[in-house]
Amino acid sequence: MKRLFSGARPIWIFLVILFALPVLPHPLHVPEYWITLLNYIGLYSIVALGLVLLTGVGGMTSFGQAAFVGVGAYATAYLTTQFGVSPWIALVVGIVMTAFVALVIGAVTMRLSGHFLPLGTIAWGLSLYYLFGNLDALGKYDGINGIPALSVVGLSLASGRSIYYLIWVVVLVSVVSIQNLLNSRPGRAIRALRGAGVMAEAMGVHTAWMRVIIFVYAAILAAISGFLYAHLQGAVNPTPFGLNHGIEYLFMAVVGGVAHVWGAILGAAILTILQDYLQSLLPRLLGESGNFEIIVFGVLMVALLQYARQGVWPFVARWFPRGPRARAPEHAEALPRQTKPAPGEPLLVVDRARKEFGGLVAVNDVSFEVEAGQIIALIGPNGAGKSTTFNLVTGVLQATRGEIHFRGERIDALSSREIAKRGIGRTFQHVKLLPTMTVLENVAIGAHLRGSSGVWRSLARLNAQEEGRLLFEAAEQIRRVGLEQHMYDEAGSLPLGQQRILEIARALCCDPTLLLLDEPAAGLRYREKQQLGELLRRLKGEGMSILLVEHDMDFVMNLADRLVVMEFGTRIAHGLPEDVQNDPAVVEAYLGGVE
Ligand code: ADP
Ligand code: MG
Repeated sequence: MKRLFSGARPIWIFLVILFALPVLPHPLHVPEYWITLLNYIGLYSIVALGLVLLTGVGGMTSFGQAAFVGVGAYATAYLTTQFGVSPWIALVVGIVMTAFVALVIGAVTMRLSGHFLPLGTIAWGLSLYYLFGNLDALGKYDGINGIPALSVVGLSLASGRSIYYLIWVVVLVSVVSIQNLLNSRPGRAIRALRGAGVMAEAMGVHTAWMRVIIFVYAAILAAISGFLYAHLQGAVNPTPFGLNHGIEYLFMAVVGGVAHVWGAILGAAILTILQDYLQSLLPRLLGESGNFEIIVFGVLMVALLQYARQGVWPFVARWFPRGPRARAPEHAEALPRQTKPAPGEPLLVVDRARKEFGGLVAVNDVSFEVEAGQIIALIGPNGAGKSTTFNLVTGVLQATRGEIHFRGERIDALSSREIAKRGIGRTFQHVKLLPTMTVLENVAIGAHLRGSSGVWRSLARLNAQEEGRLLFEAAEQIRRVGLEQHMYDEAGSLPLGQQRILEIARALCCDPTLLLLDEPAAGLRYREKQQLGELLRRLKGEGMSILLVEHDMDFVMNLADRLVVMEFGTRIAHGLPEDVQNDPAVVEAYLGGVE
């Protein structure tokens, strides 16, 4: 059963069936009823696809998509009936209006976290709904009638069978555009939004802006669906744009599988057909009329969250061959590199940096320097303040006092994104990678700042050349650290030691002048530690400057040029490893303390 369709490219079978359906001859003739249903499935799929991007991939739950469908529908209804404007111009106006509204709403609500975001989406969903219902110009709750049918190059799309083609072409274009986006520079950043935002920022991704952008794109897809809906129906009123429809769209995305592009269509199909069936069945069973199907949907939702969080699509996907993943080209033009400082030049200067957490002084006026071409190790027992110092340098925390300079520029007030731009690449004490993405894709996130294609270019696949260069660079760095046999494995399947090496490759992909490693040897076995040591020595040999935080003194002994030892937030010793090792204060800290 597995890989049932692998020989025959299921996508082509799907497309042929899809486009033949309305015109099949007599014995197979599809009744009008099914064409109508398929039209609605298509319309809902377009909205649900936006939710896959926004909620499934980006991790932001929205109950308010129906309101954007309304903006698209009302824009064309109003302009075509009141002013006789061509529907295609009305479409453009609708999209521009939606983009503007979404930009404003998105800039406010996308900053909200946790449950405040869904609450915010409910608020805007309600307000737009009441706006449609209360504006005289929009016909209040009666809405607008007499919306003309669409026509394309002289062909009328008045019948359900003809607009069917337009609707499904839009569905397919939406699928392809989202697939394009997800396999691109901004797409990888978007996939990191859910759960790995700190990592993405450290690689130079403007996460807040990325959130707003995918919010706008999801809203535009909803508005296009609304436009098609208005011309299919010939009339609009506020009801289909209310909050309960917003919840239904979310249902569709979740049922299909909120992180799967094709799942959106599956979910829209399942819910539309089920709703249609239940709407006639339930009143007959119960002997009363009413929207009982909502109750069934509620139960379905609870069951799904209990037993199949990923939705239905993963079960279906098992029978299909796995889609192609990003592959690195054999050759590509190398990306430009920053000029590197001469060996011995002062690179990082930490000058009396201080960090207080309330009454606790986590970093107590600590000073040290890193010169180009050196490996400096910041060591000390647990709780000494090493990670806090590291976070001050990388911009994750702001120093209470003191200065930090990098290549002569003061950086202690900059965000981690700005610091990444200046040439500091970092890894994390607790590995932060995207487990279901390949090693190549994970490493390519590190090259984010070295590309420039944005969301709109990527949707249209105008980024192919740059994409090749970025992936080629990622592959080069993977080879540099010796992970090439795992290039196309899922990152989550690697043992911890190799995941740490992956993070180093990702940091190298930033083209860093200084590499910052937070406890790279933690949790590694003896052999893995040795390999890591060899890698760091080799990188140093290639001219890389490294600052590493470590509590394992033995690991850094034969590796670092100089040590900086901290205890209780204070620097207690610094200098050559052999001198520091015998320093009485250090011996006391390591033997008398936790170690
Ligand atoms: P190390 O990395 O050397 O083990 P840390 O820098 O993580 O040490 O911690 C230094 C001290 O600062 C510890 O006492 C820790 O409890 C405290 N600390 C670290 N981060 C915070 C924080 N965000 N809020 C309050 N205290 C913190
Ligand atoms: Mg630490």
